[in-house]
Amino acid sequence: MSEPQHLHPDTTAEDCIFCKIVAGTIPSHKVYEDEELLAFHDINPWAPVHFLIIPKRHIASLGHTQAGDEALLGRIMALAPRLALEQGCNPYPDGGFRVQINTGTEGGQEVHHLHVHVLGGARPWKMAV
Ligand code: 5GP
Ligand code: ZN
Repeated sequence: MSEPQHLHPDTTAEDCIFCKIVAGTIPSHKVYEDEELLAFHDINPWAPVHFLIIPKRHIASLGHTQAGDEALLGRIMALAPRLALEQGCNPYPDGGFRVQINTGTEGGQEVHHLHVHVLGGARPWKMAV
C-alpha cells in the first residue's frame, strides 16, 4: 500500500496538509495567528495541552531551514511559552511544557511541513517519554 501523499518527505506545498490548514481548506482549532505563524491544536493530542506552531510558508522540516530563517525560528520559540500558559499549561517549575520538533523519518516526522509540538498539562501523558 502506498503512503498517503501528506506523509511523503517530498510533499510539495500544493499537497501539504498543513499548507491546507494555513489556507483554510482543512479546518483547524486555531490558538494563534499572525502574518507568518499559525498555531492550532493537534488533532490527536498526546497530552492535556498539545498544539503545533508552524510557519505559514511551506518549509519541509527543521533540516530545510536556511540562513535568514533565524528570526522565524526565534519567533516560534518565543511564542511557545506564551501560548503554553494561555492554553492551560501549569507554571514553571512544577508545571512546565515540552517543545519538540520531529525531523525526518528517524526523527519521527510524519507531516513534512515544519511544526513545533508544544505539550503540557498534568501527567500522565499518552506518549512514553
Ligand atoms: P509529526 O509526527 O510529523 O511530528 O507530527 C504530526 C502531528 O500532526 C501529529 O501529532 C498529528 O496528530 C498531527 N496532525 C496530522 N494531521 C493533522 C490535521 O489534519 N489536523 C491537525 N490539527 N493535526 C494533524
Ligand atoms: Zn506545507
